[in-house]
Amino acid sequence: MQDAVWLNANLATLREDGAPYGEIRDGALAVKDGRIAWIGHRSEWTGAAAREHDAGGAWITPGLVDCHTHLVYAGNRADEFEQRLKGATYEEIARAGGGINSTVRTTRAAPEAELAESAARRLRQWIDEGVAVVEIKSGYGLNTVSEAKMLRVARQLGDRVKVKTTFLGAHALPEEFKGRPDDYVALVCDEMLPAVSPLSDAVDAFCENIAFSVKQTARVFTAARNLGLAVKLHADQLSDSGGAQLAAQFDALSADHLEYTNEAGIEALARRGTVAVLLPGAFYFLREKQLPPLGALRRHRVPIAIATDHNPGSSPLTSPLLAMNLACTLFRLTPEEALAGITRNGARALGMHATHGTLEAGKCADFALWEIESPAELAYVAGSNPNAGTVRDGEPVPSA
Ligand SMILES: [Zn+2]
Repeated sequence: MQDAVWLNANLATLREDGAPYGEIRDGALAVKDGRIAWIGHRSEWTGAAAREHDAGGAWITPGLVDCHTHLVYAGNRADEFEQRLKGATYEEIARAGGGINSTVRTTRAAPEAELAESAARRLRQWIDEGVAVVEIKSGYGLNTVSEAKMLRVARQLGDRVKVKTTFLGAHALPEEFKGRPDDYVALVCDEMLPAVSPLSDAVDAFCENIAFSVKQTARVFTAARNLGLAVKLHADQLSDSGGAQLAAQFDALSADHLEYTNEAGIEALARRGTVAVLLPGAFYFLREKQLPPLGALRRHRVPIAIATDHNPGSSPLTSPLLAMNLACTLFRLTPEEALAGITRNGARALGMHATHGTLEAGKCADFALWEIESPAELAYVAGSNPNAGTVRDGEPVPSA
């Protein structure tokens, strides 16, 4: 006897078994003990379940996986957005104390409860859009106490959605280390990382000419590896910095952004099975021109994930569905690639593909129901939400 079964549903399993979207029309999906126990055509379902749900012809997809966010922070930067549109330059804003360091100041000053409250409020939209897993990075504390505070807040959000935390101490150089980047990297490696590793599932860094060099990033990754932590990288967003090669060299779970990655970098990702995470929200908000090398990623069969990159500076995007739409309109992904990017490959980018990202027997019963006529609609809608219910560990989630 199964705990529950969903009938009268079309299933987009996202399994790579040949059918587009891994689709099963008129399917049945049964759950037991929080896992998917049976999935297939309704005509083949002969089991029994304690509860029977009529999905009313809805589509069911795996719960969405947003594998790259900076969701915990205090304040916002709407004032800078407004100043820029009135003609202020980035340099003028930075000189007036704006930019990432303004978020660092507000986040350091914010009490933990206030950070948790604002992040939980934002997170409602992810839950409303069928998200099962969200990755949350630190990186606005930039000292041991404040980075730990951010990671604790992120972990607390795990009572509402599954959360993976990533330590991003090497996000930017804090003001008090101006001109001394190597001293700051030493602090990240020798003090911050050992202190926050129990709160972290992975370690990330921003490898870029305006942030940390390949050498400095490698030092952070070596320290992470010594603590047994997986790594991820903000790579080649603004220039070809060799970030993709570095990520591959350390067997990173993912290399993210990649607008400027060259072919050799993509080959390196392919060899190591590192996921390419594309972030169209930042590309859109910053009005970037350099497109990520989608053709080469496809040619080398690098798994492509899509994420919101939600953050107050470069991607205030709060909608995973809109991220899918932007991935299609701006980067020219197909709707199927976009959906795979925010399910199957998003899970892979977090090392969770054994339990999430596809609808398969044995995986966690985390899925979303949608009032749509075809799965392509999820990437097609720009600004509306056809979610008709979310199930976590086999139980319907009350709307947020
Ligand atoms: Zn980011």
